Amino acid sequence: MKEFDTIAAIATAIGEGGISIIRVSGFKALEIVDKIFKAKNGLSILNMKPYTMKYGHIVDMETSQNIDEVIISFMKGPRSFTAEDTVEINCHGGVVSTNKVLQEVIKAGARLAEPGEFTKRAFLNGRIDLSQAEAVMDIITAKTELSMKSAMMQSEGILSREINNLRARVLDIVALIEYAVDFTEDEEEIDPQIPIDVANKLRNVINEIDKLLKCADEGKIIRDGLNLVIVGKPNVGKSSLLNALLKEKRAIVTDIPGTTRDVIEEYINLDGIPVRIVDTAGIRETEDVVEKIGVEKSKEKINEADLVVFMLDTSRELDEEDREIIEFIKDKKYVVLLNKVDLDRKLNFDALKDLSNFIEISAKTGFGIELLKEKIKELFFNGSIDSESLMITNTRHKQALYRAIENLELGLTNLNNNEFLDLISIYVTSGLRALGEITGAELEEDVVNKIFAEFCCGK
Ligand code: GDP
Repeated sequence: MKEFDTIAAIATAIGEGGISIIRVSGFKALEIVDKIFKAKNGLSILNMKPYTMKYGHIVDMETSQNIDEVIISFMKGPRSFTAEDTVEINCHGGVVSTNKVLQEVIKAGARLAEPGEFTKRAFLNGRIDLSQAEAVMDIITAKTELSMKSAMMQSEGILSREINNLRARVLDIVALIEYAVDFTEDEEEIDPQIPIDVANKLRNVINEIDKLLKCADEGKIIRDGLNLVIVGKPNVGKSSLLNALLKEKRAIVTDIPGTTRDVIEEYINLDGIPVRIVDTAGIRETEDVVEKIGVEKSKEKINEADLVVFMLDTSRELDEEDREIIEFIKDKKYVVLLNKVDLDRKLNFDALKDLSNFIEISAKTGFGIELLKEKIKELFFNGSIDSESLMITNTRHKQALYRAIENLELGLTNLNNNEFLDLISIYVTSGLRALGEITGAELEEDVVNKIFAEFCCGK
């Protein structure tokens, strides 16, 4: 374990709550807290037993006045989240009390932690690898039980094991090539069985990576949510549909404070898939002022969507506005909702012959809403959601896998073209490196810093 300076931060959400926790991590954690903590029993905490708690007060070092009544706990490294000595101070959960306590901790010698620095230490101290560290963040931001489950699996190292297994196999290929190159004077004399073995092994690894990549789109949706945009002219029933979907008690709310967004989003939980529905109400508002901006924004949202839900009112005839939307969404992944089927039908279906994926619904009565959900599962998850197997949920991991497969395939192609083994080795080694980026075994320091900088403070 490396020795870093001692850091501190508020680990709980800032606001009014029962308690707040200030986390202090590093080899001086106990020493620093000891300076500002007055235990009820008057004893110093320097000899405190790990995994126990002590009751007392945080005091102002200069005036000796009590700042807050607290309970502190002590986790001894390496058996702590960061793998370092960690002291956690449970104080009253007010903004003022929490900040005051943190200030005293800083005055006593700790440094304010950067975002994600506690998790980064767990990584730098070798307790978890990079994909596990990223999973910690995914657990915090998980939007459904399914996203949470997949993040938990990743934090427990299921992805790491798979990647390490693949790396071991690629390393084995590199070794085989190096062996052949080192022990033969001239390429002509290489045992003909070696290129055959290398090719077979490469093909097997490529297949494995391919399997992982096949579920990456599903994985990303499970982690980040499915982006769904409802479009249709005014009064077709968009708000009614949104309400019908949200009425389900499984609806979940996440509007993260502190992040600015120009559109309002609602999340629903569709059998574990977080579905983010973009509420276009905000767009309509701007239309009155500068209509163009409104239209542009709608188009932008449609372009970003994973699925466009296009609504038509079957009790009205198709008009120019509907046709314009049809033109725009035709090349996107979409479903067409034929709404208001409880009313008399006026819509002429012949005009819709170029479209597909129709679902008849009544947003008002709820008829057909289940069919819409089934359709979404069919379009994105082949009908059912597999919550047990490993999924690539993170775009960074996906890109690394693509780079790995690209290089391994280049290796294979060149091998088939009877190129020198030295050249094959370069490609295979690049593939190996790309795999190592996922677990952080091979990654530049600034990339690592960038990943952790996206974490929240105190984690
Ligand atoms: P939006 O402008 O597209 O958001 O449309 P709204 O959701 O506000 O709906 C416009 C009107 O159509 C409202 O009066 C709704 O009650 C009504 N409406 C929506 N869906 C249905 C439906 O399936 N059947 C019937 N009969 N009326 C509906």
